[in-house]
Amino acid sequence: MTRLILLLGDQLSPSISALDGADPADTVILIAEVLGEATYVPHHRRKIAFLFSAMRHFAEELREAGWRVDYVTLDDPGNSGSLAGEVERAIVRHRAQLLTVTEAGEWRLKQEMDGWQHRFGISVTILPDPRFIASHEEFATWAEGRKSLRMEYFYREMRRKTGLLMRGDEPEGGQWNFDADNRKPASADLFMPRPLRHAPDTITQEVVALVAARFPDNFGSLDDFWYAVTAEQAEASFRHFLKVALPRFGDFQDAMLKGEPFLYHAVVSAYLNCGLLDPLAMCRAVEVEYHAGRAPLNAVEGFIRQIIGWREYVRGIYWREGPDYAHRNALDARRPLPGFYWSAKTRMACVRAAVEQTRDHAYAHHIQRLMVTGTFALLAGVDPHELHQWYLAVYIDAYEWVELPNTVGMSQYADGGLLASKPYAASGAYIDRMSDYCGSCAYSVSAKTGAKACPFNLLYWDFIARHGDRFRKHPRMAQMVRTWDRMDERKQAIIRAESAALLDRIETL
Ligand code: SF4
Repeated sequence: MTRLILLLGDQLSPSISALDGADPADTVILIAEVLGEATYVPHHRRKIAFLFSAMRHFAEELREAGWRVDYVTLDDPGNSGSLAGEVERAIVRHRAQLLTVTEAGEWRLKQEMDGWQHRFGISVTILPDPRFIASHEEFATWAEGRKSLRMEYFYREMRRKTGLLMRGDEPEGGQWNFDADNRKPASADLFMPRPLRHAPDTITQEVVALVAARFPDNFGSLDDFWYAVTAEQAEASFRHFLKVALPRFGDFQDAMLKGEPFLYHAVVSAYLNCGLLDPLAMCRAVEVEYHAGRAPLNAVEGFIRQIIGWREYVRGIYWREGPDYAHRNALDARRPLPGFYWSAKTRMACVRAAVEQTRDHAYAHHIQRLMVTGTFALLAGVDPHELHQWYLAVYIDAYEWVELPNTVGMSQYADGGLLASKPYAASGAYIDRMSDYCGSCAYSVSAKTGAKACPFNLLYWDFIARHGDRFRKHPRMAQMVRTWDRMDERKQAIIRAESAALLDRIETL
């Protein structure tokens, strides 16, 4: 009896549950490059190339380990273009009577897979994905009956569960969270480490050529491809981060600098999210650096919180809230996404820098995503679903389970405060404090009104005015609403009029 095991592009781990207990003698592993998965949003070309190359390398490793792998390339003449179509063809090809998969990372595929047993008429087993630290049930139990679902409390549970940075029942260093130490602005004279670069081998070169030919109009550069595409390379990249960047990762994790897309960030989220790295093993390795005296607690705690706290928490929210979470729009934001999110043609230096490096590397760090492109969209009232599709398309590490709550909940407050305790609305002063962008901007960060006024300044107050009724009693927003309410009426009128004019010509900002 032949068992077919389907592995998805973000399931590139030898320990993936679909392989548990399988016997290479009666098993065929199916891995397929399909147009449907590459195009349901218009993915960045570097992201497609990264994933296809990582999938091809993983298939090679499985073959070397003795597995029979049926790998369908995008340009296979028989390729049906959809995951279900490829599963169906493989069932026929191999006369498979059983199909095993590890659960998918998004509702779209989960709903499709739930119908496969009926559709294909064979036994289909869908297994949980234990590469995550919290199961769906654990998250549901934690969330049950809570008035608010704040990440911090979930994170503490995960610290206790894993024992990471714990001294008995107490957190290492006497506190759970050292985020207050992690907000230093960077200065251009700091030594800047760089992520480890990996020269593309023949497989990657072939994939890059394929993507260039098949996706000529997609966003993003394929030039100078340097990402890791195997577990071994990804591990080397992570070890490189531990050595050269982790000690200062905490201090400068919110900083932004012109021409420095990576600063002290690990730039391993793409590897982690497709399965080339293991989250718990990474956290244990980071903890070792602390105990060996090679990295300070604020850096180590900040990194571990991102992995066992934030990453697990947003996954929990994603599955708990259901497929309609993607369409929440609590602030009724309806503006189309401005074209400069794709073209980088804007005089706003901060947005231009974020989009340019996104185009070049399919990467921007969390503050660029949250406080530059995210905050601008929030202030301008951009439709959160459009913005969600943009983030999902352009970032190499973006899968819906992680990207959607970050966009809809954290960045756009479109879930009405389920995830974030307040909207991430800010004027240009925040960007000025944390970056060196404003000095070379066509706008003046100190100007509140007038032709040179920083758009973030004008739109910040316009946002407060537009949503004043909603936030007048909000514990963390009421003070700003009161400040607006007390503002001179003439000044209010100027801000509202200039903001309206600015939004009318948003494409030319
Ligand atoms: Fe961005 Fe405003 Fe600073 Fe220009 S002045 S870089 S738009 S924050």
